[in-house]
Amino acid sequence: MNYIQANTNGRLHSATDPVLSPLDRGFLYGDAVYEVWRTYHDTVFAFDEHWTRLEASAKSLHLTLPFDAAEAWRELTRTVAAFRAHGGESSELYIRLQVSRGGGLIGLDPALADHPTWVFLVQSLPPVSEEKMQAGLRTVIAADIRRNHPATLNPLWKTGNYLNNLLALREAKAAGADEVVLLNLAGEITEASTMNIAFVRDGRVVMPPLSAGILGGITRRKFLSDVAPRAGVETSEAAVLPADLDRMEEAFFLSTTKDITPIASIGEHLFRVGPGTLSIRLKNAFADFVREDATAHPERFLG
Ligand code: PLP
Repeated sequence: MNYIQANTNGRLHSATDPVLSPLDRGFLYGDAVYEVWRTYHDTVFAFDEHWTRLEASAKSLHLTLPFDAAEAWRELTRTVAAFRAHGGESSELYIRLQVSRGGGLIGLDPALADHPTWVFLVQSLPPVSEEKMQAGLRTVIAADIRRNHPATLNPLWKTGNYLNNLLALREAKAAGADEVVLLNLAGEITEASTMNIAFVRDGRVVMPPLSAGILGGITRRKFLSDVAPRAGVETSEAAVLPADLDRMEEAFFLSTTKDITPIASIGEHLFRVGPGTLSIRLKNAFADFVREDATAHPERFLG
C-alpha cells in the first residue's frame, strides 16, 4: 500500500496507525462530514469552494467545525509537508478532511458527543487508467437502491455516511460494470456513486438539476460557470429519465478526483467516446481552465 499521511487532531502519523476511539461517532454512526481536495500543478484546486461546502454540510448536521478556513489551510499544509518528508512523492495529491462529531457515551443523541475529531489524509492522487479514459466507463443503473430522497439524508450534504451509494456501487460491480448510475424515487437519473453526471444532446450539455437529489459537485459547478461557457458549449439542467437515454449522444461524469470522465454505456445504451467527441473537447477545456486557475492562485501553491 502506498504511504498515506494522517493528521489526527494535530498529531501527524501514518494513516495505518490506530488512533481513533472506538466511541467515535463517525465510526459508530457515520456522524461526520468530509471534503476532498486535489492539486493541479501542485496547487490546491478550489480550496474556498470545498471549504464553504464543508461548512454547509456541518451546519446541516448541527455540527460545529473545530477550526476556520485559515487554520484548516495551515493543518493541510503541515500534513502535505509530512507526506512529502516521508516519501518525497512528486505526483499530484489527494487531500481529505474528515470531521466527526467526536466520542462520548454510546447513544444517538448528538448531545452525548464531546468535541469534534478531525483527520486530514494526504496521499498521491490515485491514477486514472488512460485506457479507461479513452474507452469510457461501463455503467449500469442500480436496480435495488435509489438515491436518498432530499427529505432523508439529503444528497446535498457531504456526510460520512455513504452506505447507500456504496451498496449501489457494489451492485454495479457485481454485474461487471465499472460504476453505477442511481435513480431517484421518481425514476429520474441523479448521479454516480461519487460523481455527478452530464449528457450531450444535439451538441449541448444537459445535467440533472440539484433538485433531482444530487451532491452539488464543485467540478460540476466550475464546469457550468467557467469551462462550458469558455468552450462555447450551451448547458442546461433538466430531469433526465432512462427513457431519454436513446436521444443522448454522449455522457460523462464529473468529480474532483476524476475531473471529466467519458461514459461508454449505461446498461444497453452506448455512447460515443474517444477522439472527436465533445466530451474530450470539454475535458481538454477543463485542463486549460485548471492550469490557468493554478496560476491565478499562487497562495494555494504547495511548492
Ligand atoms: N456526487 C457525489 C455523491 C460525490 O460524493 C462527489 C464527490 O465526492 C461528487 C458528486 C463530485 O463532487 P466534486 O466535484 O465536488 O468532487
